[in-house]
Amino acid sequence: MARLVALRAEPYPRYLRGLEGDLGEKNYATIAPHFQEGGGCFMAVERDGPYGWATWLAKLMAGEINCEWAPWFKTHYQKWDRVPSDFNQAAWQMEHTKLSRDVRSEQEAASDTVYIENQNTFHWQREGSELVVGGKPDIVSIGTNLVTVIDCKTGQPKASDQIQVMIYMYCLPQEAPVYRDHILNGRLVYSGHRVDIPEAAIDAKFEQQFNYFLDILDSPNPAVRVPSAGECRYCDITKADCPDRIEVSDDAKAGDEAWA
Ligand code: SF4
Repeated sequence: MARLVALRAEPYPRYLRGLEGDLGEKNYATIAPHFQEGGGCFMAVERDGPYGWATWLAKLMAGEINCEWAPWFKTHYQKWDRVPSDFNQAAWQMEHTKLSRDVRSEQEAASDTVYIENQNTFHWQREGSELVVGGKPDIVSIGTNLVTVIDCKTGQPKASDQIQVMIYMYCLPQEAPVYRDHILNGRLVYSGHRVDIPEAAIDAKFEQQFNYFLDILDSPNPAVRVPSAGECRYCDITKADCPDRIEVSDDAKAGDEAWA
């Protein structure tokens, strides 16, 4: 009971407004497990300013996610409770590290100056807005006249992979002058092949589309929430923050994977 009192003592976050009447009773059973012992809870905290990652934005722009609320929520809130991942993160990380190291060696052999991961972190702020977009290209390789922004992917190619690199190509020259004096190309490296993205891909049309989707994340009004079993099962936002979440049983997941 003490936990329920703690829940009610919390100010309702902006994205749950309108549900105040039900939250105490109707959703308590699903929200309660997210409360810590002692009365505190993992309630999401509103960010000082909106902050989105290029990876979420790329999936949104590619239409690979229909639930726009998920990236909107992550852009405006932090410290939210996460659904534990059953994805084999360690195996993925090792494969990705090996591929990145191979590409790095190749670029160094071509006498380029090569920067990796954390060295490439950027925080690009949208003009006239508080929205910041963060990103971290795997490799930035600087030659005499040419900069190549490279991302390494171990999974199946997706449209969002290309858009993610295009976002890097758009933001990096605005972040650091060194990129402006060079031709800036992009490259995706998969386990079996590569895709080159020319500088010309970052044109007025791309900028227009980029801004269209930035508007969704930048808006103070919550984006549309589109629950579906297919999407919620891969979403790491819990019912504590998304009461519409559709839970998929482990048996159903195993059945789907057997058919895939
Ligand atoms: S759990 Fe489902 S409805 Fe909720 S934010 Fe994630 S994808 Fe959207």
